[in-house]
Amino acid sequence: MDTDITIIGAGVIGLAIGEKLSSYYNNVFIIEKHPSFGQETSSRNSEVIHAGIYYPEGSLKSRLCVEGKELLYDYCRKHNVPYNNCGKLIVATTPGEIPVIQGIKETAAKNGVELDVLDKDQIAALEPNIFALIALFSPTTGIVDTHSLMKQFETGILNNGGQIVYGSEVTGIRKVDKGYELMLLDSDKRSFSFSTGILINSAGLTSDKISEMAGIRDDKLAIQFCKGEYFRINPPKNRLVTRLVYPVPHQNMEGIGIHVTIDLAGGAKLGPDVTYLKSKEYDYRVTPSRQEAFWRSAKKFLPFLEFKDLSPDMAGIRPKTQKPG
Ligand SMILES: Cc1cc2nc3c(=O)[nH]c(=O)nc-3n(C[C@H](O)[C@H](O)[C@H](O)COP(=O)(O)OP(=O)(O)OC[C@H]3O[C@@H](n4cnc5c(N)ncnc54)[C@H](O)[C@@H]3O)c2cc1C
Repeated sequence: MDTDITIIGAGVIGLAIGEKLSSYYNNVFIIEKHPSFGQETSSRNSEVIHAGIYYPEGSLKSRLCVEGKELLYDYCRKHNVPYNNCGKLIVATTPGEIPVIQGIKETAAKNGVELDVLDKDQIAALEPNIFALIALFSPTTGIVDTHSLMKQFETGILNNGGQIVYGSEVTGIRKVDKGYELMLLDSDKRSFSFSTGILINSAGLTSDKISEMAGIRDDKLAIQFCKGEYFRINPPKNRLVTRLVYPVPHQNMEGIGIHVTIDLAGGAKLGPDVTYLKSKEYDYRVTPSRQEAFWRSAKKFLPFLEFKDLSPDMAGIRPKTQKPG
């Protein structure tokens, strides 16, 4: 074998795996088709460190989220990666939403996540500019600077002696005795190949294609492209909220509602919404006509918000295995 371990994809997942494995093993390679890390989903998201509130009890997502957030905060502290453990409010704005709040609190408790129920005065003390009849406060939710996080992982990999090969796309995989042979194209479209003992698939939106190349075909693993768009809140109103604020989620849980996320630079944005794309197209355009829907949705809990306070921001695409609905 030319290499022991090869990881496909230098998004946050491939880099995190790469940093950990390269601290134990020599000969770890990461292959990335773009000229640098995090050019796809890992740079197009809300940068929220989730608490693990909504996941079904006992699920892998629940366990990994609850355990992972502590590991992530520790990692950020240890390596000076900027983060803010700002907390998150889930707000009920109509009487009908009040019982839902109680249900969310119970689900979260089953996952080991404690949430505080806040009345109007307590909400006003934290966030004087929002409207809510009642809210849940999640003290362990936060935000992280994802670029700095990925940069730190990259530095860790290189310091450990691992290697990252940018500008090279995996185009074929062949199972061979004791491992895999990879076929690749470099940035000049020249082909090359090498063999690896262990192959790790962290290719995000194309991870199902990678599985298929390796001979693993399973409809349950088919990736659906699910787009999320954002609108930013223009200054100076971006400073009127200092925590993450979410509405009570929709019943079908396809998304968790148009919410406010803040970033470490002091910005605030609304989103993401949820649109399943019909084709597997990297369509990162923001639809200006959606501004009305974003504004109407958010002004229920941001009474200060006027239509003109919003501008189109960015979009990301979630690689979902769940089908629409
Ligand atoms: C709108 C939106 C909001 C989100 N908000 C949050 C949030 O607040 N908190 C949170 O925790 N998560 C959030 N997520 C999810 C989070 O962004 C993803 O789970 C995470 O970025 C996935 O990382 P990844 O490394 O798996 O994938 P990616 O970042 O997509 O990385 C995969 C990499 O593989 C490379 N690759 C693919 N195919 C090949 C190939 N054939 N050869 C070589 N390289 C290849 C790609 O170029 C890419 O760089 C959000 C996602 C979206 C879309």
